[in-house]
Amino acid sequence: MIRPDIIDLLRVKPGKKFRLKDHNPGWKQSEEFEELGKDALKERAKAILDTNLADLAEAQGRLYADGRYAVLIVLQAMDAAGKDGTIKHVMSGVNPQGCQVSSFKKPSAEELAHDFLWRYVKALPERGRIGIFNRSYYEDVLVVKVHPELLGRQLPPGAEKPGKKFWEARYEDIVAFERHLARNGTVILKFFLNLSKGEQKRRFLERLDRPEKNWKFSASDLAERTHWDAYMDAYEDALAATSTDEAPWYVVPADHKWVTRAVVADVVTTAIRGLDPRYPDVTDEDRKRLAAARAQLAAEE
Ligand code: ATP
Ligand code: MG
Repeated sequence: MIRPDIIDLLRVKPGKKFRLKDHNPGWKQSEEFEELGKDALKERAKAILDTNLADLAEAQGRLYADGRYAVLIVLQAMDAAGKDGTIKHVMSGVNPQGCQVSSFKKPSAEELAHDFLWRYVKALPERGRIGIFNRSYYEDVLVVKVHPELLGRQLPPGAEKPGKKFWEARYEDIVAFERHLARNGTVILKFFLNLSKGEQKRRFLERLDRPEKNWKFSASDLAERTHWDAYMDAYEDALAATSTDEAPWYVVPADHKWVTRAVVADVVTTAIRGLDPRYPDVTDEDRKRLAAARAQLAAEE
């Protein structure tokens, strides 16, 4: 487990001033253990993650059996921040039947012809399940804010250019949407994997230099990197406007992958445990039926 006061520092507090520059992408969970050396630190981080994963698997089993709540995990980040790796590692111990991952790319013509939340609604997790959004409706106030030409016909009639009011309306709609989901039993946890520009450069170079990583590199990633500051502004505004008690944002340090994974696993496990999901009660009637079934099986030749 990571200390709860540390997790609390990563949570964006509703109504409070929020500045991304107050969050260090290079933060290491184990600063107080620095003298152990890099290998020992990684060992320790791995041990924490293993415990977290076992706890998460147990919590998910109960969530599934309980069947009252759904969990929606939203992952947002710049390229190469480690969304895919986080999903792979954090969910590695979880029963695949209880978990679904949806990745959102550029919307299709059909999707663009609807309201901006439409395609995400269809992918929401049902009760008992964990749904992971690898990118989400937040793209509609992030990449779309950086490149407003992507809006196309989604711009309200008469409006030529989306202004402050337009984006504030979208934040408001997102908050209302999430409140609706929360009231209907969906627990929403949102993670911004906070990568530094320097570490992104290092990871891009690694993708270019190592043949087995070449496939991960895309020229458009480099183009988006040139809009880094505009993205950071868009993230800052979006997180400040949409972090609520029922759907909080966590700014997760992403320059060290083990930190990212440990934090996400910890927050998800703690949230599910907080629901106190239970295995369905066995009534006296049920017990009688179970005893009869046992007797019937025992009596078989
Ligand atoms: P990978 O790790 O494989 O690169 P990825 O999530 O970056 O994963 P890509 O196919 O590289 O996947 O990129 C998806 C692209 O789709 C991103 O550039 C993202 O900004 C864009 N996208 C996602 N949602 C929207 C949206 N609503 N409107 C416009 N573009 C979107
Ligand atoms: Mg990409």
